[in-house]
Amino acid sequence: MGIIAGGKDQIAVVGAGVGGLAVAARLGKKGFNVSVFEKLSRPGGRCHLLEDSGFKFDMGPSFVLMPPFFKEFFDSCGEKIEDHLTLRELDVHYKIYYADGTSLSIHNDCRKTKDELENIEPGSALGFDKFIEHTEGVYRAVEPLLYKSFTFPSLLDHKLWPVVFKIDPFRSYWSVAKKYFKTEKLCYAFTFEAMFMGVSPYQAPSFYSIITYADHIQKVLHPMGGMYQIPLALERIAGKNGAKIFYNSPVEGIRKNKGRLALTVKGEDLDFDNIVVNADYPFSQTDLLRRKIKKYKYSCSVYLLYLGLKTKIPSLEHHNLFFSGDLDKNLNQIFKENTVPEDPSFYVHVPTKTDPSLAPEGKDIVYILVPVANFQEGEYDMACHEAKIRKIVFDKINEATGVNLEELIEVERKFTPEDFISRYNLKYGATFGLAHNLMQSALFRPANKDPQLNGVYYSGASTQPGGGLPVVLASSRIVADMIARQA
Ligand SMILES: Cc1cc2nc3c(=O)[nH]c(=O)nc-3n(C[C@H](O)[C@H](O)[C@H](O)COP(=O)(O)OP(=O)(O)OC[C@H]3O[C@@H](n4cnc5c(N)ncnc54)[C@H](O)[C@@H]3O)c2cc1C
Repeated sequence: MGIIAGGKDQIAVVGAGVGGLAVAARLGKKGFNVSVFEKLSRPGGRCHLLEDSGFKFDMGPSFVLMPPFFKEFFDSCGEKIEDHLTLRELDVHYKIYYADGTSLSIHNDCRKTKDELENIEPGSALGFDKFIEHTEGVYRAVEPLLYKSFTFPSLLDHKLWPVVFKIDPFRSYWSVAKKYFKTEKLCYAFTFEAMFMGVSPYQAPSFYSIITYADHIQKVLHPMGGMYQIPLALERIAGKNGAKIFYNSPVEGIRKNKGRLALTVKGEDLDFDNIVVNADYPFSQTDLLRRKIKKYKYSCSVYLLYLGLKTKIPSLEHHNLFFSGDLDKNLNQIFKENTVPEDPSFYVHVPTKTDPSLAPEGKDIVYILVPVANFQEGEYDMACHEAKIRKIVFDKINEATGVNLEELIEVERKFTPEDFISRYNLKYGATFGLAHNLMQSALFRPANKDPQLNGVYYSGASTQPGGGLPVVLASSRIVADMIARQA
C-alpha cells in the first residue's frame, strides 16, 4: 500500500466522494497525515464522469447551488475558488414544462420570473415576494446551523429555541408554498426541489424551502468543463495538502485494535488514530462496522439516460423540468406504491447549452433523470419499465420542443437503481442516501462522530447536516474541526 502505519495523527478517509476529498483537504491543511481509500478508480463518488466518443457526461449533480458553501471550502484551504473553477452564471436558472403545454422559466432577473408567474396565477408576483421574504429568513437562520453537529443535549441550548421556532420544523415544504400560492401549478414549482434530496415535498420539513430560496435568489452556476471539475479541484487541493489517495482500494472493515483503529483494505490491516467514513452511512454500519441498524427511511432512486446527440438542439434550456400530468399520483407511485411512475415528472440537463466543450463540435449532451422508487420495500425489475419510460420522456420532449431526440442519438448510456447499489454502495439504490424527513434531519440524522467507537467520524450525504454538494462540504468542515479539537 505504501502507507507508513503508526505515528501520531494518522487519519484514514474511506471514500473519495466530495465529502471524503473535502475532509482530506481540510485535515491535510491542518497538518494531519491523511490517507484516502476509494473503491473506484477515480475521485468524485456520485459526482462522477462518463466519457464516450468525445462526449463528457457528468453522471450525478448538475446544479451548483449555494455558492457561499463552495467559497468557504476553498477559503478554509487557503485557495482561491477562481484558481480552480470557472463558474458561469445562468440567465435562465431553469424552465418548467407543465403537462398542459404551458411553461414557466425562472430567471436570474426576478422581475422576469414575476411576469411569468402572473401569467399563470394573477397576483402571484406578490405571493412570490412574500415567499422569498419568508424563506430568506429561514435561510439566514439555517445557514450557520449547517456547520454544526447536533446531539440530543443540543436541545438544552436555549439559544437554539428561537431558531427552531423560526424554521417551524413541523410544517411541510409543501405547506410553505401553499401559504403564498393558490394554484397547484405554482405550489409544485416552488417545492419540486424536495426531489433534489429524494423526498416528497409533502414529507420534507418546511426548512428545506431554503433550496427554493437559493435557486431563485442566489446564483445558479455551471463550472466550465463540467461538474467533474469540482471533485478534480478537491482532489488537487487534498494532494497539495499532503493527502495520499489510493484508488481501486475498497475498504472491507473497520474495528478497534489495541487503542487504535484498524482498517482492512484488500485483506491487509492498517492502523490509524482516526477514521473518517465518507462511504454512505447505512452501508458503513452494516458492511464496515458489522452492526445491525434501525429501519431508516431512504430517499427515492433515479433512472438516468445520458445521450450524446448528432446535432445541437437549441430549444431546451440548460436545466429543464417536465412535470407529470398527475403530480400527486407521480409522488404516490414513488413514495407509497414503491414503483416506477406511469407518467413521471423528469429532469433534462443540457450542459452543452452553456459549455460546448463537453461534446464534439456541433453536438449536444442531454442527461435525463427520472425519479423512481428505491428497493427498500422490495426490488422491482427496472428493465421491464425502461421502454415505457423512454417513450413517455421522448414524446413529452417532442411535444414541448418539436425535437425528436430518439432520431438524434449518437451515444446512449444509462444508470439504474441497481447501479447505485453496485457502484457506490448505496443501500436499496437510494440515490440521495437516507431520506430528509423530519425524523432524519438535524439531530435525528446520524451524527458526525460515532457514539460507540472513539475516533470514527462521518462526512457525507447520509449524516448531518445532509445531502447535496454544498451541505456535504459543510459536513467535511464539521468533521475536520471535531478532529482538530480532539487532537
Ligand atoms: C443523479 C444525481 C443528481 C444529483 N444532483 C445534485 C445537484 O444537482 N446538486 C447537488 O448539490 N447535489 C446533487 N446530488 C447529490 C450529491 O451528488 C451528493 O449529495 C454528493 O455527491 C454526495 O457526496 P458524498 O461524498 O457524501 O458521497 P459519495 O459521492 O457517494 O461518495 C462516497 C464515496 O465512497 C466510496 N466508497 C463506498 N464504499 C466504499 C468502500 N467500501 N471503500 C472505499 N470507498 C468506498 C464510493 O465509491 C464513493 O466514491 C445529486 C446526486 C445524484 C446521484
